Amino acid sequence: MTATAPRDTEFAELVATRRDLHAHPELGFQEHRTAGLVAERLAALGYQVTTGVGKTGVVGVLRGTGATGSGPVRTVLLRADMDALPIQEANQVVYRSTVPGAMHACGHDAHVAVGLAVARRLAASRGNWRGAVKFAFQPAEEGGNGALAMIEDGVLENPHVDAAFGLHVMNNLPLGTIAATAGPIMGSVDKFTITIRGKGGHAAMPHEAVDPILAAAHIVAALQSMVSRAADPFDQLVVSVTQIKAGDAFNVIPETAELGGTVRSMGGRPYDEAPGRLTVITNGVASALGCSAAVEYVRQTPATINDEAMTQLVARIAAQLVGEGAVLTAARTLGGEDFSFFLRRVPGCFAWVGSQNPAKGFDAPHHSPRFDIDEAAMPTGVELLDRIAREYLR
Ligand SMILES: [Zn+2]
Ligand SMILES: [Zn+2]
Repeated sequence: MTATAPRDTEFAELVATRRDLHAHPELGFQEHRTAGLVAERLAALGYQVTTGVGKTGVVGVLRGTGATGSGPVRTVLLRADMDALPIQEANQVVYRSTVPGAMHACGHDAHVAVGLAVARRLAASRGNWRGAVKFAFQPAEEGGNGALAMIEDGVLENPHVDAAFGLHVMNNLPLGTIAATAGPIMGSVDKFTITIRGKGGHAAMPHEAVDPILAAAHIVAALQSMVSRAADPFDQLVVSVTQIKAGDAFNVIPETAELGGTVRSMGGRPYDEAPGRLTVITNGVASALGCSAAVEYVRQTPATINDEAMTQLVARIAAQLVGEGAVLTAARTLGGEDFSFFLRRVPGCFAWVGSQNPAKGFDAPHHSPRFDIDEAAMPTGVELLDRIAREYLR
């Protein structure tokens, strides 16, 4: 056999695992089959396994048996999210989802496969490193804050975690690229609901009613002044009103109107000021038009902020894998990611691995019913996390 044989076996297993998970997607906090598969594999590799961490999360710990060096003995956390999305898959691949209305449309199936392959490698190289690796196979990344659930269940203690790393396959980055950007890389996710109360009446006699729809329309427009007039143009801020609900009949002015939406930022002043400003604008515009308004503002996920030193470590390893020119150090998005909860507590880095390959048809965006990745991205992810862990524990 050639020297490449073990890698071929590893790739075959990555593909088999990913496709099995892809065919059996599970929504947030319902990842029972996935968690069972993960726990079984980790235990077989010699990991100390804890299930039910953050409801359906699985934690696997392994201590290195390598010679002790002079520095501190540390624990590194590697995270893979496991949940799928409530989307009906439109792909006709052999491994398409067998669950109606559920689909791995973000690539978390690949993250689990990669995590398990890294766990296998680190178990095999156990005699060459010291300290501990802790795998967090996390539930409910998609809006469920599964990371926070695992933290609240103690995933960062026993042993205490010193640094955390994770990755995401990225269909808007070409295969063969890796993004490792220091500082804020993904946005905070805030959610708001606004209820505007007027006075219902006949559409032909508006003077006898108070129209909440007119107020809602003015509020939608006025909220954009948060971005265009109030925020520093060099800061990042997005306000998106994504829901308008009002009225049941063409000839009736309704009693209430409801708006829903989201605010995204990279933290700092725009983040701190958003709830207050949104409330002031809403109340002011509503009252100017004779309505009252109630604002419900929820902080869902904070911005994802990569540690400078940990990002340098990742970028250095990434350059070894794909070449310096293919390492992106300024890639950012205002999309959210609950890995941010780990990075709020311990230093670390969240990296993106390019999985886009238009020539093979792998370029549908994340959360699309046609999402699929070039599986050749997975070995890069394995190599990256494996080296990060060993390098950090050295
Ligand atoms: Zn997603
Ligand atoms: Zn995702």
